[in-house]
Amino acid sequence: MDYAKFRGIVIRSTDYGEGDRLLTILAFEKGMLTIRAKGVRRKGAKLSHCAQLFFCGDFECVSGKGRYVLTGGSRLYDYTGIADDLEKYYHACHFIEIASAVIMEDQPDDDMLRLLLNTMHVMISSGMDLDLLTAIYELRTAVITGFAPVTGECAVCGKTQDEMVFSPDNGGMVCCVPGMPVDKETAKAIAHISSCEDGKLFSIRLPKKQIAGLKKIGTKYLEFVLDRKFGKLEGFERYNNGGGSG
Ligand SMILES: [Zn+2]
Repeated sequence: MDYAKFRGIVIRSTDYGEGDRLLTILAFEKGMLTIRAKGVRRKGAKLSHCAQLFFCGDFECVSGKGRYVLTGGSRLYDYTGIADDLEKYYHACHFIEIASAVIMEDQPDDDMLRLLLNTMHVMISSGMDLDLLTAIYELRTAVITGFAPVTGECAVCGKTQDEMVFSPDNGGMVCCVPGMPVDKETAKAIAHISSCEDGKLFSIRLPKKQIAGLKKIGTKYLEFVLDRKFGKLEGFERYNNGGGSG
């Protein structure tokens, strides 16, 4: 038996056997991994608090044959309250869906995991517009995966023009091919997200009108970069608009 300690967040918690749970965790040390939490569904179980979705902290385990069994845990940040707010809950699920498309088993990604945790933290501790937060998260994920959008010049011809648009499939701002409309403030926001240091990432302020455009760009661009769609937020929008009937 070996001992192991991981710092990370529970992104899935599924019932297993009589009273156990299988926890899927994104951890700084190991990327995505599974930990078995024995007996945590039983009344008064000592470790039940660590076996919840969004639990973020340190996980202590014993390991054998490549499997991990939880022996202890301590909380770092409390994100569990997110589950009480439906809009925030769906956004957290969306952020996690994206992070788990980037962070693989045995492939730790400190930058991506830090972005996820920081974004969750901003969501619960500030009143930041959730569309703006989503746009920042999606564009920054593209940057972390090596696809920072071209912002200072046209991604196709290299010229700098006053009137530019955003073309996801050409990798950023463009002047000579069609793209999504971008005004000056939005262009500045995209450039900021692409190149600022971590500590300044969430300092953007943008009027509501521009936020919608920035979010569209973030979503389209990340879908192009990762070559897949992320559907968690659509579930929330359906619920919100159709009262759950559609
Ligand atoms: Zn051009």
